[in-house]
Amino acid sequence: MSAVVQKYGGTSLADADRIQSVARRVAARRAEGDQLVVVVSAMGDSTDDLIALAYRIAKRPQEREMDVLLSTGEIVSSTLLTMALHEMGYDAVSLTGAQAGIGTDRRYGRARIHSVNPDRIHRELESGRVVIVAGFQGITEEMDVTTLGRGGSNITAIALAAALEAACENYTDVDGVYTADPRIEPNARKLTGISYEEMLELSSSGVRVLQSRSVELASVYNVPILVASSFTEAPGTLIHGGVNMEQRNKVAGIAHDSDVAKITVRGVPDRPGIAATLFEPLAEAGISVDTIVQNASAEGATDLTFTVARADLDKAMELAGPIAKEINARDIVGDRTRAKVSLIGAGMQSAPGYAARMFRTLYEGGINIEMISTSEIRITCIIDEDRVTDAVRALHKAFELEQAE
Ligand code: ADP
Ligand code: ASP
Ligand code: MG
Repeated sequence: MSAVVQKYGGTSLADADRIQSVARRVAARRAEGDQLVVVVSAMGDSTDDLIALAYRIAKRPQEREMDVLLSTGEIVSSTLLTMALHEMGYDAVSLTGAQAGIGTDRRYGRARIHSVNPDRIHRELESGRVVIVAGFQGITEEMDVTTLGRGGSNITAIALAAALEAACENYTDVDGVYTADPRIEPNARKLTGISYEEMLELSSSGVRVLQSRSVELASVYNVPILVASSFTEAPGTLIHGGVNMEQRNKVAGIAHDSDVAKITVRGVPDRPGIAATLFEPLAEAGISVDTIVQNASAEGATDLTFTVARADLDKAMELAGPIAKEINARDIVGDRTRAKVSLIGAGMQSAPGYAARMFRTLYEGGINIEMISTSEIRITCIIDEDRVTDAVRALHKAFELEQAE
């Protein structure tokens, strides 16, 4: 008997009716004979609601308490789905992350899984039960509850699939990975397959249908992931370790992300060590800096611009402000209203001209490019958040992504 790990996202579990409909899907699959481990997200927006609630109580909630609080969202949905299966006459059991054997480090809010002990899950599967696991959480060696970062139920699912040597199916509110977010580009086309490499770039550039760390984990353990709809039977997208040799279009897709804030330190003296002085404290505070641009210096001074997630802007300004003064920079400004749009495709690395075409397309749309960064298979432009929908649509058209693969 083969084991399958399924993951259902928050939208798919948003209310009692949807939980029952997920239960029906799980039951149908169980009836076919597979051993099933089902990882669930918290219902609807309940994680956001819990965060908002915490901030009404405390200005800076303690990280440890925050993680215990947020872990309850997934516990709620896991128990309700288990009860729904009981009602349908199926034997099922809910497990928290700790009970499922998910061991993590101590980094609250963004813990990393260091071990999975699947003994309990194996025992439950052997006794014929469907195992429902609360996603997004684990436990430290000191028995403190941790969470894995937003979208972290994807990581739980991959980690369990790797530990159980099971297939992984990710059910969500879209029926696959599209060439652009179907919510803003109606002509977006569903991909039948995509490589880990391309999916990783898409995820880390804003395609949150899978959290980027989960894609990384899947590629390390070579776990193929099916992304499919929790509402329909439409065939999904397979994320895999191969390459699509025959893919005609060298661009796999366009990602966008409006969670971008920009910090500019102006008039920075041009001398060695400045960048290290500025970025080290940010790294120590766990703030990840994304795109960085430093201008060529004029008269011994230069401007240094970088981006961070919006939630990190205040903390980053707090840390970088005094340093800017210390190093005699002219001033420092923060801007919350940026966005990024990225073109991604493994085929682009051997074909010139993609960057030029991207820049021209944005120019023709009257969209100003403020910063540019690239990897071998990605070109990213930082633009005004108000223009992000226009940018995605214009690029989707220019690179002919609506046409067949
Ligand atoms: P879940 O609640 O199942 O975890 P998410 O909301 O995290 O689901 O992710 C699904 C959403 O990702 C979709 O509703 C879709 O709007 C968005 N999305 C963004 N870009 C893409 C893309 N290229 N392909 C598919 N979905 C995308
Ligand atoms: N509920 C968590 C979140 O909203 C984890 C998840 O859904 O994967 O980020
Ligand atoms: Mg998600």
